[in-house]
Amino acid sequence: MRTSTTARAATKRHRNFRGEAFLVLPSAGRMWSACNVKVRDCWAVTSVTLRRCLKLGAAMAKSKFEYVRNFEADDTCLAHCWVVVRLDGRNFHRFAEKHNFAKPNDSRALHLMTKCAQTVMTELEDIVIAYGQSDEYSFVFKRKSNWFKRRASKFMTHVASQFASSYVFYWRDYFEDQPLLYPPGFDGRVIVYPNNQTLKDYLSWRQADCHVNNLYNTVFWALVQQSGLTPVQAQERLQGTLAADKNEILFSEFNINYNNEPLMYRKGTVLIWQKVGEVTTKEVKLPAEIEGKKMAVTRTRIKPVPLYCDIIGDAFWKEHPEILDEDS
Ligand SMILES: [Mg+2]
Repeated sequence: MRTSTTARAATKRHRNFRGEAFLVLPSAGRMWSACNVKVRDCWAVTSVTLRRCLKLGAAMAKSKFEYVRNFEADDTCLAHCWVVVRLDGRNFHRFAEKHNFAKPNDSRALHLMTKCAQTVMTELEDIVIAYGQSDEYSFVFKRKSNWFKRRASKFMTHVASQFASSYVFYWRDYFEDQPLLYPPGFDGRVIVYPNNQTLKDYLSWRQADCHVNNLYNTVFWALVQQSGLTPVQAQERLQGTLAADKNEILFSEFNINYNNEPLMYRKGTVLIWQKVGEVTTKEVKLPAEIEGKKMAVTRTRIKPVPLYCDIIGDAFWKEHPEILDEDS
């Protein structure tokens, strides 16, 4: 008699560190050494043998220390929800000072952040959209992602480590004359959103935060750099002012129309997957007269592309319905 279809389907073959084969039966949670049953025979094993081996396996494979596994918290993210990982630079106020970042915005630093986020999207799986501003970046995983069985700690640590190592790896591409003085760090958090509206509201919240901070910083640094106010004086001048007041100060005192400031500063950066035509040179073998010649070949690739646009209104989501697609 063969094992039942369910038992066979659930049984997985593995090898231990010595290369010996063993079986894992998830329903029983027991490891089972191949010294009892050869792997090549396992698909024809009788249910009697199966039970006998389970008993043996129970005694053999579990060490007395294995109970410590039970201390691991179950951090599976709720099914069918959007999983967001947000990273934030650790003490980046000091980091920006030490590395002479331009105020109020350093485009090198912002582009480096985006390069790191693109690397995260390319290297990891199932990220559908990312949004970044200042020293933070948010990554949204597909609703139905089953990457690392949806474990929050796996999502967060993979994103944070990939992002931080990329920041160091690509630093010199953006800061040619500025050596990296010490290793930067990023904290991470995982937030689970139950539907499209809450996810859109989350991203809107981050973009609104970008706008509020950038408007404040633009006026603050104009007062310091152009009017010669001390940071404390500039802070006092701006206390209690509304957005309209800040726009007015910028326009009347510095001839700056805030709406003409770069979109990347005002809106932050949105990364979505788009088809990109990539031109590469390739040796082409065809007619005799051009044999061995290098030719430019264009091929289409899907890459995380930066957009600097509004994501609070409906227009963006209507233009890119695939992001919130049910099967996403
Ligand atoms: Mg920070």
